[in-house]
Amino acid sequence: MPAPAPSYWQASVPPFQGGTGGPVEGEFDVAVIGAGFTGLSAARSLAKAGASVAVLEAGKVIGAASGRNGGQCNAGTAHDFSALSASLGLDKARALYLAHCDAVDTVERIVREEEVDCAFTRCGRAKLAAKPQHFDKLAAAYEVLVREVDPNVSLVPPERIGEEVGSAEFHGALVQRTSGQLHVGRFGLGLAGAASRASAAIWEDAAVGGLARQGDAWQVRTARGTLRAKQVLVATGGAAPQAPFGWFRRRIVSVGSFAISTAPLPDALVAELFPARRNYVTSRIIGNYFRLADDNRLIFGGRARFALSNPVSDLKGADVLEAAMRRMFPALAGVPVEHRWGGTVDLTADRLPRAGEHDGLFYAMGYSGHGVQMATHMGECMAKVMGGDAGANPLADLTWPAIPGHIVGKPWFLPMVGAWYRVQDWLY
Ligand SMILES: Cc1cc2nc3c(=O)[nH]c(=O)nc-3n(C[C@H](O)[C@H](O)[C@H](O)COP(=O)(O)OP(=O)(O)OC[C@H]3O[C@@H](n4cnc5c(N)ncnc54)[C@H](O)[C@@H]3O)c2cc1C
Repeated sequence: MPAPAPSYWQASVPPFQGGTGGPVEGEFDVAVIGAGFTGLSAARSLAKAGASVAVLEAGKVIGAASGRNGGQCNAGTAHDFSALSASLGLDKARALYLAHCDAVDTVERIVREEEVDCAFTRCGRAKLAAKPQHFDKLAAAYEVLVREVDPNVSLVPPERIGEEVGSAEFHGALVQRTSGQLHVGRFGLGLAGAASRASAAIWEDAAVGGLARQGDAWQVRTARGTLRAKQVLVATGGAAPQAPFGWFRRRIVSVGSFAISTAPLPDALVAELFPARRNYVTSRIIGNYFRLADDNRLIFGGRARFALSNPVSDLKGADVLEAAMRRMFPALAGVPVEHRWGGTVDLTADRLPRAGEHDGLFYAMGYSGHGVQMATHMGECMAKVMGGDAGANPLADLTWPAIPGHIVGKPWFLPMVGAWYRVQDWLY
């Protein structure tokens, strides 16, 4: 199987230059496993607070989901707020929604503090009604959000949808105005550089294959050597292999998600199709999301197919996405697609992230498609927790049972879930 194609974000930045050479060895306060946004954000915070930190990455810095996503940094949860309140209670639902808003603030603050040139902007997010009846649901959601948790939402009626997006497929929108976007490749390199400047050691190609308690520390075994650390943060996203992370593997479903980007669009086409330059997401269950990059490329993504990501699957997913994009925006007929990629989303059963401590290991993962902001935020929160501030974890109250029947290997139930979602989209 060939190597996966880089995402647009990865292809438009140089490789990380600050990696630590030589064998993995030494004694550290903290070992962070994984150099995505969770791991890098935690490493930056811990190192700035004076801890000695080793980051151990199986592949390359932001080589997985953090470098292969849609670049949307949205406030609020993806869940319908009424449904979330009904299952968790209003106070918990509100706290979780606001944690996702705080997460966007965290990204913005890090960008400012580290002076990362990544085109962060508070563009807002428009949820687009894909069927006329979906607008009624968005209107009901708007009432609840404004009343209970978020004054920064507005409703765009069907007759004014052209102010948001130039496509005949949509029938109104719900806009969340404090959502942001950024170039995640430049942000990821900025985070890694900041952690490294604060003296964190970052080893690439250093997959962790063994963890063992040794007195009051952990012995962490990698492909490039072994080190000892007093604390360990598991920040392995959706890619956690079987051992030594079986407990997490039974709670996370890794699913493929796919994206494409076009050549840069002329300004006149941008003004016609994306006048508000927002993050856009459609209201279908198997929907699409899209946004412009700062060089006017359209980044267009979605679940596309219920399969894992690999080089072959990524191209099949890209074909599905390209067809959807051209149907939605016929004016893009002559615009070529220049990048096609896929990645792994770390889903939990209830699509809420989890963070805490299990068996002496700290962890944060399961962002379920909302990790650009939440991974960055939870990396910082867990750094504080590991430094002794137990109250810094906004997810501490969530229990995390194993997913029944999800023990080893691929999630066998995905094709069935996909079929069920397609029927729901067709019916409602
Ligand atoms: C196609 C796609 C589109 C997305 N779009 C969006 C979006 O628009 N907005 C949004 O908010 N979220 C989006 N997401 C989700 C978001 O990218 C992730 O939630 C987030 O990046 C997770 O960050 P992380 O650091 O926890 O995990 P990752 O970025 O996956 O990093 C985990 C790292 O751990 C490493 N690792 C794993 N096992 C080991 C081991 N044994 N030893 C050492 N290292 C190991 C991996 O190699 C990897 O680099 C998208 C995801 C995908 C795939």
